[in-house]
This record gives sequence, structure tokens and C-alpha cells, in this order.
Amino acid sequence: MPPEEFRRYGHQLVDWIADFLTNIDEHHVLPAIKPGELRAQLPQTPPQAGEPMHEILADVDRLLMPAMTHWNHPEFFAYFSISSSGPGILGEMLSAAFNVNAMLWKSCPASTELEQVTLDWLRQMMGLPKEFWGIIYDTASISTMHGIAAAREQLDDLELHEHGMAGRKEVPRLRLYASEHAHSSVDKSALTLGLGKAGLRKIPTDTQFRMQPEALQRALNEDRAAGWRPFCVVASVGTTSVTSIDPVPAIAEICARENLWLHVDAAYGGSAAVVPEMRWVLAGCERADSLVVNPHKWLFVPVDLSAFYTRKPEVLRRAFSLVAEYLRTPQDGEAENFMDYGLQLGRRFRALKLWFVLRYFGAEGIAARIREHLRLAQQLAGWIDAHPDFERMAPTSLSLVCFRAHPSHVHDKEELNRLNEKLLDAVNATREVFLSHTKLNKRYTLRCAIGNIRTEEHHVQHMWEIVQQQLGRLLADPQSVIQKETF
Ligand code: PLP
Repeated sequence: MPPEEFRRYGHQLVDWIADFLTNIDEHHVLPAIKPGELRAQLPQTPPQAGEPMHEILADVDRLLMPAMTHWNHPEFFAYFSISSSGPGILGEMLSAAFNVNAMLWKSCPASTELEQVTLDWLRQMMGLPKEFWGIIYDTASISTMHGIAAAREQLDDLELHEHGMAGRKEVPRLRLYASEHAHSSVDKSALTLGLGKAGLRKIPTDTQFRMQPEALQRALNEDRAAGWRPFCVVASVGTTSVTSIDPVPAIAEICARENLWLHVDAAYGGSAAVVPEMRWVLAGCERADSLVVNPHKWLFVPVDLSAFYTRKPEVLRRAFSLVAEYLRTPQDGEAENFMDYGLQLGRRFRALKLWFVLRYFGAEGIAARIREHLRLAQQLAGWIDAHPDFERMAPTSLSLVCFRAHPSHVHDKEELNRLNEKLLDAVNATREVFLSHTKLNKRYTLRCAIGNIRTEEHHVQHMWEIVQQQLGRLLADPQSVIQKETF
């Protein structure tokens, strides 16, 4: 691409992005599209000859936009609402332009050293101890897998690095513990690391969906007696379904006593600790062996960027270091080569977008935005509590509000579930807002996750009006599957 052409389309694209973000309210959050519809409009064979850039960009508007779910929309409240901020987008652009592979210090000193510095800034912003050493992976799932791999590596008497686990009678069955509300990435890590589903024991939670430390202790005692070798506990600070916060201080105490690696999944909830009065969310985490927090979730950094911290980088390194001759450099031993601390060799320059975001907003700017999300969640919780036809399904500890419709004349559990499922469908069918759901104690629950940098009070208000309108419509509509008379 000739430089002049790059410049022209580069300016055009930045203008397009600026307009898109400025007018994002005018778009629907969800597309009106059926599976396969976009695919059917695209050529089934690759272009043989090059196509002009203006045609490619025109197809973004013509073909892609109608098929987009807008995660950057201020009324995207599904899953965990995430957002790419202006500085984050610019950082991402620049990192594509540099296109470095940050596997070794030598392969790009700027990337390695910016990663060290930005992760240390973030550590300080969250109030974590100085000994926490950080590395960037792509996602929390991968971070957690690395944490558990390090936990397994710590069992050095088993010499797993050298001899593996399979077919060795002298290796006991290893077990990992997490609450029944822990993210499925813990299960997937167990599968990946050869522990199998049986290698993960789920610990029951209390009425507020937090791991019960006494149940953890009982499980450990039972398992040791039955010949298992417990080696790791994953505690959650902000579970996916309800953002419950496990009692990390009590869990850390058990881990210390039982000599177990403690990994904390704070993928979403950890960001709240940037707000000084919310530091308590990470209470006890200073004792963790490893911890993950995702700046791509609630710190306005574009997907993907997951920050992993450990106080034992040497154990992680032992688990993954395997240096091929062509990768040896004169700086080995003097500089950090991040490829030694994980599965992947090639690494993107992700620290750049984190650097842009942290510098542009500053710790105070980020804290102010997160504080506002927390306020909006409390406000929505108040509206729900005050409404006779709705109820909250879990404490609103962070910025996620779990609720359901519960009109006073509806008592049957299954009918309530059907009503709420219908309600979610009806709300999302407006395409003006996007909510997601979970099941809590078999009760269908709507989730409203507030966390987008562009979300303001009127957006939350609009979502709440839509929910109320749709419930009214469902209860009034005699043709609806859920008819008032059937309750
Ligand atoms: N942990 C928690 C608590 C989550 O909520 C999620 C995803 O929402 C993850 C881990 C996985 O995150 P990622 O998509 O970065 O792998």
C-alpha cells in the first residue's frame, strides 16, 4: 500500500471510528440477523485480484455493520460489559503498526519494559504487594491456566516437569478446589492440565454465593484421607454470575496451613480495587500465590489484555522455560524474556494500549469512572427493590445487578422461570438494550452488568423502562405464551 494511500484511508478510518463512537447511541445494540445471513452475502472463494480499499471499507458499512453486536454501546449490559476507550483504540492501532513479537527482551526491549512498568503501576493502583510480579496474557482463562500450572509445578517432589503424570503409580491423583460459582476457565484448566473433571472439586457456597471455608476444609480432610493430593485453591473476587466475593482471608489461611497454592480470579472484580474506598474487595489477596485481573473487562482497555501476577515467578518459569538454541541471547540472565513464563512464544505488544489508557485517564480518572458504575448499580438496585413486580436475586456488591420479575400473583417456580425467560427475550428483541441471564438456585435470573465507559444514568434508566414495559406487555398480551390467567 503506497504511503499516500495508507494516509488517506487511515484518516478516513479514524474519522469513521470517531463518528461511530460519537453516534453509537443511534445504533441498535443487537443486530437483526439470522445465523448464516452474513455468510450468505460474502463470496465463498477468496478474491483472486486485489480490491480497492474504498470498496472494502464500504462493505464494512454495507455488510458488517448490520451483523454487529455493539459491545461499545452504552446500553450493552450483557455478560460483563466492556469497552474500548479512545486511548485504548489508539494504542491498539500503534501496536499493529509496530507489529513486534515480544517473546524476548532482545526481540523488543520497549515491549518487555513497558509491560513490566505498566503492570507494576496497575499493581500499585490495586494496592497489591510489591513482591507481585506481572505478565500479560491474552485472557483470564489463559492466566488462570498458567496459575494452576505453576501450582502443579510447585509439587517438585513429583518431578512432573521431567516425567509427566501419566502411568506413574507413585504420583497420587492431584486435586484442585474452587467454588461452585467459579468461572468455567477453572474447569477447562483442569482438563488442559491432565487433571480431568474429577481433579476439580467444587466447594458449596453460602446464601450470598461465596465459597464456604469450612466446606473447603472438610473437602481437603476427606480428600487427603481418600488418597488425593490437594495442591491448589482458586478463590473468586467477583464471580461471573453474581460478582460474589469469596472470603479470601479465610481461604488464604487454609491454604497457608495446608501448603496449597492460592490463585485468585479477580478478572472482573479486581478493577474495583482501583477505587480507594473499594480496596477491601482484594482483602486477603496479598497472601495469594497468583492473581488475575482483566484490564479488558473493567479498565477500558480493548480486548484482549489480561494481567497475571504471582509472587513466585520462578515457579511459573520452571513450569514453562524451555529455551531453543535460536532463542538464546547475550542478555539472558540480565533481562526478562517473557516467553519463559508461558505456553506461547509469540506475544503481542499489549502493554502499549494499557500504557495509553493508564496515562490518559490516570488512576483518579479510572477510579472516578468505576465509582460511577458502582453508583449506577446501586441506583438500579434501589429501583428494583422499590418495584412490587421485581426482586433482586443477589447482593449488588459491584456493578452487576441480578434480578427477576416476580408479580405477586405468580407463585409457581417454573412459571416464574418461563416468565423471566420470555421477559429477557422480549427486552433483547427491542435490540435497544442487551441483558444476559444466569440461573441461581434453579431460578432464572436477569443480569444487568454496568461497566461501559460510555454508560450514563439515562442509559440505565432507559433499560429499566424497557424492562418494565416488556413485563407489562407480556402480562397484558392474551396471545403471549405466558398469560396472566395461566398463573
Ligand atoms: N473469570 C471470571 C470471573 C469471568 O467472569 C470471566 C469471563 O467473564 C473469565 C474468568 C474469563 O475471562 P476471559 O474471557 O478473559 O478468558
